[in-house]
Amino acid sequence: MMRRKLVAGNWKMHGLKADLGEVRAIAAAVPAEVDAALCVPFTLIAGAADAAGALPIGAQDVHQSDKGAHTGCISAAMLVEAGALLTIVGHSERRADQHETDAQVKAKAEAAQKAGLRVILCIGETLEERDAGLAEQVVTGQVAASLPDGASADWLALAYEPVWAIGTGRTPTEADVAAMHGAIRAKLRELIGDEAERVQILYGGSVNGSNAVALLGCEDVDGALVGGASLTAEKFVPIIEAAASLSR
Ligand code: PEP
Repeated sequence: MMRRKLVAGNWKMHGLKADLGEVRAIAAAVPAEVDAALCVPFTLIAGAADAAGALPIGAQDVHQSDKGAHTGCISAAMLVEAGALLTIVGHSERRADQHETDAQVKAKAEAAQKAGLRVILCIGETLEERDAGLAEQVVTGQVAASLPDGASADWLALAYEPVWAIGTGRTPTEADVAAMHGAIRAKLRELIGDEAERVQILYGGSVNGSNAVALLGCEDVDGALVGGASLTAEKFVPIIEAAASLSR
């Protein structure tokens, strides 16, 4: 099955209004063959959505509740009102720093979908888990435990992000990427049947303009989630173009 490639940027805790020029430059450079998106800090969503034209702007997290006593948290409806069209959930930095569990990630994805947001759900093993030969078991376990009820490619994409590859300049071999994406797809098939063929599975972890064609060209890789290299058009656009070149 031919799935469209999706290249999503994750600005993490970077970006002020002064950076909206980068959003405009990225938005202007997305070819028709690929989908792209930028997930920015909460404070920049409204400004980025204004600046981005047709480029979807997203958040990097969402709370699982509609409203309530959750100081410092943001609901899905708030994201929608600010102009977000999607959100990341379960990023490894949140799983590690905020101790988010698979059950919370699942609930966040379901809350986001209920409010009309698309979701990029992140999974990935640590270096210790890979070295112990547990990578596939850990990652497919995360898929099983955090996949939202009613999961559909209409609103859900997964992002396989080995924790040890995020922001380190290290990447798995192409064979390892293909093997893990195949294992994720097989787990999805078990869980949601034929719908699994339509779900985009992105790779994330130190993707840049030089390695994008190789990583995005791997079997079962349907795009990329990009951190550091998504902060400027100069670095991000070549990755988007690499995805487009594989789709022509
Ligand atoms: C990320 O934060 O999701 C990510 C993949 O970061 P980087 O591209 O910087 O490794």
